[in-house]
Amino acid sequence: MERKKLVIIGSGPAGFTAAIYAARANLSPLMYEGFFTGPSGGQLMTTTDVENFPGFPDGITGPALMDAMKNQAKRFGTQILTEDVDEVDLSERPFKIKGGKTTVLADSIIIATGATAKRLDVPGTLDGEFWQKGVTACAVCDGAMPIFRDKELYVIGGGDTAVEEAIFLTKYGSKVYIVHRRDELRASKIMAQHAMDHPKVEILWNTVLTNVEGSHVVEKVTLQDVDTKEESKRDAAGVFFAIGHNPNTAFLKGQLKTDETGYLLVQSGSTATNTEGVFAAGDVQDKIYRQAISAAGSGCMASLDAERWLTANGLS
Ligand SMILES: Cc1cc2nc3c(=O)[nH]c(=O)nc-3n(C[C@H](O)[C@H](O)[C@H](O)COP(=O)(O)OP(=O)(O)OC[C@H]3O[C@@H](n4cnc5c(N)ncnc54)[C@H](O)[C@@H]3O)c2cc1C
Repeated sequence: MERKKLVIIGSGPAGFTAAIYAARANLSPLMYEGFFTGPSGGQLMTTTDVENFPGFPDGITGPALMDAMKNQAKRFGTQILTEDVDEVDLSERPFKIKGGKTTVLADSIIIATGATAKRLDVPGTLDGEFWQKGVTACAVCDGAMPIFRDKELYVIGGGDTAVEEAIFLTKYGSKVYIVHRRDELRASKIMAQHAMDHPKVEILWNTVLTNVEGSHVVEKVTLQDVDTKEESKRDAAGVFFAIGHNPNTAFLKGQLKTDETGYLLVQSGSTATNTEGVFAAGDVQDKIYRQAISAAGSGCMASLDAERWLTANGLS
């Protein structure tokens, strides 16, 4: 069985940045870029314009940015396997990594498998419908798009994220509605109060989204009162899901410490997990920032952490 100094799992901005640094440091990294888990390149493959990644004053499409990162990682010799990692065994060293077709041994691992935004199965919101044409799951990423300017926007959710996203969107929309299925927000009291006091935010209690429609982009939403089942159609330019993310950690089968929602826990100021030689980067360990540049930054950190750990343990 082939033994690698470093295996990187995941091919988003975190994984490719880690690969570029590791390959340039002569660690000959092997990357599992995923297969059924999503496209090579990660979440940005599902978006059009990325306007906040430094270095591209005119913006760049998500796929073009990820293609460039992949080519840069390959240029320095990263070996890439188009497979999912189904299982890892961290109980002995070197660690064992089982992919869809291959099994390898690894002295160190960087986990960069990202997180998947939760979405509701509401007609009109799906891929091929209005997903990324007014329906999104990231206000910070997409809120500044011209289609949302001075329009009515709907945030779906009731936790801190929903409130934060709604308040953020007041910079752009004429009015921001929080659509919440209960009669009380799950957000912290202080955040909930911010939302209730904000002149541009209105909370629609006991209400759910049942349909999204339009011609090329979102134009209308249908909302339903959960008690009376009465439906109303309203003008809308944007629907922002803010109902949480699922970090992609199921394949680890509980071998690393996570928080209560499944995000990998790393030591403060580092990418080290609770198992020596295993590092985590990007959205899989970050439920706060969730941006391409922060993922790339932590990918760099993970590679430097792994390199130092390998050297300190005579494995580089
Ligand atoms: C629609 C959309 C638009 C966005 N727009 C912006 C934006 O404009 N600007 C911005 O900064 N951020 C944006 N983001 C957020 C940004 O995409 C993420 O923060 C970033 O991609 C996280 O990078 P990552 O490397 O941690 O993980 P991801 O990009 O999630 O990549 C993880 C990769 O790991 C793979 N993987 C998962 N499980 C396995 C496994 N078991 N084995 C092998 N591979 C696996 C997946 O297939 C995927 O390729 C957007 C997100 C979305 C969804």
